[in-house]
Order: sequence, then structure tokens, then C-alpha cells
Amino acid sequence: MAIILKSPGEIEAMKEAGRLSAAVLREVGARCVPGVSTLELDEFAEDYIRSHGGTPTFKGYGGFPGSLCASINEQIVHGIPSSTVKLKDGDIISIDIGATVDGWAGDNAWTYAVGKVSPEKKQLLKVTEECLWAGISAARPGNRLGDIGHAVQSVAKRAGMGVVRDYTGHGIGRDMHEEPLVPNFGFRHTGIKLEPGMVLAIEPMITLGTHRTHVMRDGWLVVTQDGKPAAHFEKTVAITEEGPVLVSVEPDRKRPL
Ligand code: MG
Repeated sequence: MAIILKSPGEIEAMKEAGRLSAAVLREVGARCVPGVSTLELDEFAEDYIRSHGGTPTFKGYGGFPGSLCASINEQIVHGIPSSTVKLKDGDIISIDIGATVDGWAGDNAWTYAVGKVSPEKKQLLKVTEECLWAGISAARPGNRLGDIGHAVQSVAKRAGMGVVRDYTGHGIGRDMHEEPLVPNFGFRHTGIKLEPGMVLAIEPMITLGTHRTHVMRDGWLVVTQDGKPAAHFEKTVAITEEGPVLVSVEPDRKRPL
């Protein structure tokens, strides 16, 4: 399957999905407090998305039952929301959530600290967010796909952390997962050329130990093989002549690229 380039008008249309995805993510993040179950977060998210004119992109995707993925501590991605999984003080939780608006998919994720977390986890969140911004900064014409992965990997490596290789970012548009795959590792100046009109979900998954993963028996939940914590940050980014433009924008967050 080929990469589907988006026109400037289509990128503007995708921002509606991006805005709702970012808004619901922020609202869910504010509700990540001790005692809350991941199913309660999921139900809140689905209501929020539907009442703001969207549909939950993840719900039913490949048979996924939830509107968001909730992945705690050593869980990396794809945690199914559950009434029996309750947040505890000291947890970190990756919330991955997408909203579809007017046929365009949105996708973004953030890892939140629940109550007071250990200095190691705090550092993991800081470094993984830095990885995300480094990857986004590399998403510009003239660069190649490997430059994004290299930028992400370099930040993690400097901090002595693991870079998950079994899961990647991806192109996004009318489908949540389009070509190309966007790995969080790579060599500079390698891979396909980045062109204006490409819209990518960049999503580093970084660990405090091994990068090796294991899929649990439900067929969804991905954990670190050594049980050490993982973090996951994701934004949807459009490549333009002027450089990277955030498509899934948190309205209250301003950060230069
Ligand atoms: Mg994604």
C-alpha cells in the first residue's frame, strides 16, 4: 500500500479530529487519580468523544473493545479498560486515544503519573516526552524516515533507556493505520524521503529496562519482558514545507518545534 499524501485542506480537516483527540486525552489525563478504574476512564472518554461530534476510533478496531488503551507501569500499549483495574498512588499510565471526525482519524497518547511516583518513573516520563519532541522535530522535508527514528533513539540511548522495536508509529488519515511504519529507531539519512502532505503518528515507547516485549493472553496487552516500567507518548504530525505541524494539539500546551 502506498503512502497517501494529504492536501493542505485535508490537513486542516484532520485537525478537527486531532483537536478532539487531544482534548479528550487531556480530560482523561486529569482523571488519572488513585482509585479510578480504567473502565471508568474509558466510559468517560467514549461519552466525551460522542458528545463532541466524534466517534471513538479505537472502539471495534481489530475487535478492540474499548475507546482507549490504558497501559499501567510495565504495560507498554494496548491495555483493555477494565472495572477491576484501579489506579494506585505511584502508578504511571499510558492513555492512548483516538477520535474520528468527518471521516478523519485522530490518534494521540500521553503517560500520566498517578499521585506521587518514584524518581526513576519521573525520569522515564521526562525522557520519553523528550523523545517525542525530538522525533517531531525531525519530521520535515529534506529528512528521511530514519532521521525520525534516529532522533528518538538518540535521546533514549543518552538516558540509558530501552527503545521498544516491536511496535511503531504510523501514517494516519482516513484510516488510523496507514503507510509508512514509523520506527523509533533508525539510521540518519536512510529510508523514504519525508514529503509535505505526509501525516504521521509519532509514538516513542521507552522502557527503564529491556526493549523486549511480550503479548499477554488476551491477545492485546503488551508488557516489557523484564517487568520494568514503560512510557508512551504520541502525537499526530503533518509534514509541511515549513516543517512539522501538530495535528493533535493540546490547546493549552504551547511548545516550539
Ligand atoms: Mg498510534
